[in-house]
Amino acid sequence: MITLALSKGRIFDETLPLLSAAGIEVLEDPAKSRKLILATSQPDLRVVIVRASDVPTYVQYGGADLGVTGKDTLIEHGSQGLYQPLDLQIAKCRVSVAVRSDFDYAKAVRQGSRLRVATKYVSIARDFFAAKGVHVDLIKLYGSMELAPLTGLADAIVDLVSTGNTLKANHLVEVEQIMQISSRLVVNQAALKLKQEPIRRLIDVFSRTVAATATATA
Ligand code: AMP
Repeated sequence: MITLALSKGRIFDETLPLLSAAGIEVLEDPAKSRKLILATSQPDLRVVIVRASDVPTYVQYGGADLGVTGKDTLIEHGSQGLYQPLDLQIAKCRVSVAVRSDFDYAKAVRQGSRLRVATKYVSIARDFFAAKGVHVDLIKLYGSMELAPLTGLADAIVDLVSTGNTLKANHLVEVEQIMQISSRLVVNQAALKLKQEPIRRLIDVFSRTVAATATATA
C-alpha cells in the first residue's frame, strides 16, 4: 500500500489532475466527506487528508510514503529526512510583506525603526529582515494575519499572496516580495527504498505531466 498525504483545498484540487494523468481517481471528495483516508481507483494507493503544515511530519515519520506540500511549509518545518524529487508547479503564490495603505514602510525602513511583524512564517520573516538589516519583533500568528495591522497588533505582516484580493479587501498593500512559492512532492526516504517501483512510477508520471503542462502554458 502506498499512502499519499494531501491537504484539503488548493493542494488537493491541483494534485487531482496529476493523479488523473497517472490513471488514478480519488474515489471521494474531501470537501463533502469527513473521511480522512480516501480510497483511489488504484487499490494499492490511498490518500490521507492532513493539515497543510502536518504533511512534512507525516512523510518524515512514515505516516505517509509521500506528500504534496508548499515550499513555504517546507522552509518553516525543515526538510530533514525528506527526499524532494519534484517541483509540481502547483498552488503557486508568493510570500510578501504587506502593510496598511497609510503606513510608510519605506520611511520606517530608511529610518531604522523597529518594526512589529505578525506572521505564521517566522523563520522566513526572520531571515528576510535579518538579511536587510531591519530590526523586527516577530509576532507568531496561526491565521487571519491581515487583521494584525488593522487592529494595531503589528506594523506589517508576512503572508502568502496569490491574486492580492485579500490584501486589497483589507486595505493592505504589498511592499516586498520575499519569495515565489509552489508545491513540492516529498517522499519518505525509507519508503523510496522499500517501495521503489510504484513510487518511481508515480514520480515519473508526475514529472512528465508537469513538463507537458509547462510546455503547454509557455
Ligand atoms: P489572494 O487573495 O488570492 O492573494 O490569496 C491570499 C489568501 O489566500 C491568504 O490568506 C493566503 O494565506 C491564502 N493563499 C494564497 N495562496 C495560497 C497557497 N498557495 N496556499 C495556501 N494558501 C494560500
